[in-house]
Parts: sequence; structure tokens; C-alpha cells
Amino acid sequence: MSELTGSCHCGAVQITVPGEPFQILQCNCSLCRKTGWIGGFWHPDSVQVDAKPEALRDYVQGDKTITVWHCAKCGSTTHWTPLTAPPDRMGVNMRMFEPDDWQHLPIRKVDGASL
Ligand SMILES: [Zn+2]
Repeated sequence: MSELTGSCHCGAVQITVPGEPFQILQCNCSLCRKTGWIGGFWHPDSVQVDAKPEALRDYVQGDKTITVWHCAKCGSTTHWTPLTAPPDRMGVNMRMFEPDDWQHLPIRKVDGASL
């Protein structure tokens, strides 16, 4: 697998992952819906986030399990990192990559709104 690099809309935040995920999770919870999130997941050690510290803003909601990051300039929701969630997984918004990088992958729909 070859690595994939994506970015937020303005380019201030670049994300590189080791390859395509085996599936993409699309969730119907309010956060995923409103941020346009579709998720690929990797171990945090294998994801490279290139951004100046001031280029990223954090958002922590509700049960405080994860920190959701977005670009301070263009507002694109780029990734999340675990807070109290298991430390071996983080999520990357696949919409930061070119459609050709992910549109062929299986999408698993998750009913997060009912949890
Ligand atoms: Zn941006």
C-alpha cells in the first residue's frame, strides 16, 4: 500500500496515512453529520499531521472521549485524537483526500445517533 496525503481546504493542515483504510465509517450522529465526517482509522503512530500548532483548533464535546481537530483558517474538520477513548486509534476525515483515494472503499454505516 502506498501512503496517502490529504489536506484541509486551505492547505494549512496536511495529513499523511500509511495507506487506504479497509473501510470507511459513516455515522449519523450530530457531530459527524454537521462536520461532514467520514472516517478512516489508524494507530496514532502511523498518522502524520503536519500543521503549525496555531493552525489547529480543538473541539471536545459531550462525553469527552475524543478531541476533534479542525483548521483554524478554513474550518475543515481534519481528524480526531483519543482523550479517554482507547489510545491505539485515531480517526481521519477521508474527505481531506482526493475522492479517487477513497470513493472505491466500502462504507460502513454506523447508527451513532441511537447510541
Ligand atoms: Zn485549512
